[in-house]
Amino acid sequence: MPRFRQITEILRLMGKKERIRNICIVAHIDHGKTTMTDSLLADAGLLPPQVVGKARALDYLEEEQKRGITIKTANISLLHETDGQPHVINLVDTPGHVDFTGKVTRALRATDGAVVVVDAVEEIMAQTETVTRQALQERVKPVLFINKIDRLITELRLNSESIQEKLNRIIKNFNCLIENYAEPDYRKKWKVSSSGETVAFGSALHGWGFTLNTLQKKGIKFTDITDAYKNEKYAALSKFLPLHDAILDMATKNCPCPIEAQGYRVPKIWKGKLNSEIGKAMLCCNDDGPTVMCVTNAQMDPKTGVVATARLFSGSAKKGDQIYLVTTGKECSISQVSIYMSQFRETADTVSAGNIAALTGLELAKAGETLVDAQYKRVMMPFEGLSYVSEPVLTVAVEPRNPADLQHLSEALDRLAVEDPNLAVTVNTRTGEYLLSGIGELHLETSVRFLKEYACGIEIAVSKPTVDYRETVTAKGLVVMAKSLNKQNSFWVQVEPLKEKTATAGVSDEHGNMLINSARNVKHFGEVENAIVDGFKWACRTGPLCEQPMRNVKINLLDAKIHENEVMREQTQIARAVSRATLGSFLTAKPALVEPVYRIEIVTPTQFFGVCTNIVAARRGKIQSTQNRADLVMIMALMPVAEAFGLASEMRSATSGRIFWQSSFERWSMLPEKIAEKVVQETRARRGLPAEIPKPERFVEETEIENNHQTSR
Ligand code: GDP
Repeated sequence: MPRFRQITEILRLMGKKERIRNICIVAHIDHGKTTMTDSLLADAGLLPPQVVGKARALDYLEEEQKRGITIKTANISLLHETDGQPHVINLVDTPGHVDFTGKVTRALRATDGAVVVVDAVEEIMAQTETVTRQALQERVKPVLFINKIDRLITELRLNSESIQEKLNRIIKNFNCLIENYAEPDYRKKWKVSSSGETVAFGSALHGWGFTLNTLQKKGIKFTDITDAYKNEKYAALSKFLPLHDAILDMATKNCPCPIEAQGYRVPKIWKGKLNSEIGKAMLCCNDDGPTVMCVTNAQMDPKTGVVATARLFSGSAKKGDQIYLVTTGKECSISQVSIYMSQFRETADTVSAGNIAALTGLELAKAGETLVDAQYKRVMMPFEGLSYVSEPVLTVAVEPRNPADLQHLSEALDRLAVEDPNLAVTVNTRTGEYLLSGIGELHLETSVRFLKEYACGIEIAVSKPTVDYRETVTAKGLVVMAKSLNKQNSFWVQVEPLKEKTATAGVSDEHGNMLINSARNVKHFGEVENAIVDGFKWACRTGPLCEQPMRNVKINLLDAKIHENEVMREQTQIARAVSRATLGSFLTAKPALVEPVYRIEIVTPTQFFGVCTNIVAARRGKIQSTQNRADLVMIMALMPVAEAFGLASEMRSATSGRIFWQSSFERWSMLPEKIAEKVVQETRARRGLPAEIPKPERFVEETEIENNHQTSR
């Protein structure tokens, strides 16, 4: 069908909720997700068929560079006929590399079903587990595509029985993931099975796929497929068993339409009142309800400004609509609404509930933002925050080689920060350096490349990456009082380690610290509350040991004295006093450093097993488990991020490039005291701080460190 007719038909069907499916494709890297997506794009006339699979042979980054869409997730609305009925499939592709996992989290919020692609040779891998768990956490229903069946036939030369056994094992292990991670209500009903058509098999590279049902309907036997390979006639398979039919039929038949999905997804991702006007409209995906959307992606387009991708949960969006950004607290007007056709966007008059739209005009929108019709701004509860599975743990400093280019750099950094949820951009106020923190070496390398591109190709000096640490406490600190500069407001603070169970009340920050307000009957408290929270956040952002963020610290505001006269309650002074009291008490609470630890997954031919385990052991790594898969061994290990520099090249040269490995953030771990001292010294020097860690007294003006708060006041 010509493209304009397709678009008209897609726009028409977007009003028929039962014909919509919002789907994303997730997988462990290299399992064939992009090849499969390309095949679907080619079928829709959006990619020349001869490019499918060929582009895949390139290295991940080169390929991304070439096409510019792999890291920046591509969305597309496809038309597909199932059982004689046309459907619209809003498809969201996601990057496979673990360093871009934040984008998977966001894509899942927009969708109701996930096609999980698994390589038949490698079977279920760590990243398969992570993405399936992420999907289930968002109540997104998974279906399974077992890819690369051709390799079982041509490379492993397995007979039908062994193939059957291998496929059954994959399905069984996939169902174990559902058993482990799905909520009780979904454990049974979301299990997949080949007879239930929730599992498809095929070869994305050769463009064919099937469910058992299609094979039976078409009278094809599995041996016909193996014969096609033996006789080198496999090219014909894509005609008899087109991949897009297998995938899209499976999705339309088994993934829910938005009306059905929102009925159970809204209570999970939105904690507002379900029987309110907005709650009811979202539960039944009502076009006539108040407009409510969740932003799942924001990208800067040099021509149109920020383009926000948003899932509409109720109402509709059109040009000129006044929209309130709930988290940011700002109102904007939509300047254009469009739908996605891969790299292109097609303007639409209106996009209604249950669909995914691209919106311009919402300059401040970031991923995770809740958008609501401005008339409802007072009553709207935001969507639940997106919980990312990775944290930024590596940092590089960037600066323009020519100081006159600073403005370009700063604008480019703003753009990157909007687009990438896993990237933290900060400024070292002392040195004036911009710091980029990311979740792995590849992530930072890619970010710097984007940065250069966005900054009009200016020359940028980039430091070597350094590890991010967190400052924490291991004991209860002393009560410390600090006053505002004018001495008219006082705050008593005591810090201690934050135990999980106390993490329910109070204000928390992005690093999991918590401010608890225990001050009672303090006059004028309400008027300075925001400044107190600001002070808490300042302190948590840069700890006193070496200006690394605090982590797992409970900050108890025990008491406060606030001046009666508003003029004496300058907000910045108050924030500073709270921050100082916090830092002072922190230093008395047996402070320590925690370091990030990667989970490293290595897949190696058996002969390199010993080489790999030696490399891991030499880098403070600990092997957690090993598993045999055909002639491969899968090694799971934990390793401090600080020890992982250059691991890729060491592994590659030791095994002549025969192994695959990837690392992802696993947890924070206490750093041994001796190493911690060294890290503190190095970090202080790098950040331009005096060598000596300050004494608690430095943060308070007079004699305010108190052993017993009650008696000394
Ligand atoms: P992604 O990282 O999941 O997006 O994986 P890609 O789609 O980039 O595929 C990774 C590699 O596997 C590429 O070299 C592809 O050509 C190859 N590949 C993908 N699908 C198949 C398949 O069905 N059979 C075979 N033999 N190779 C495949």
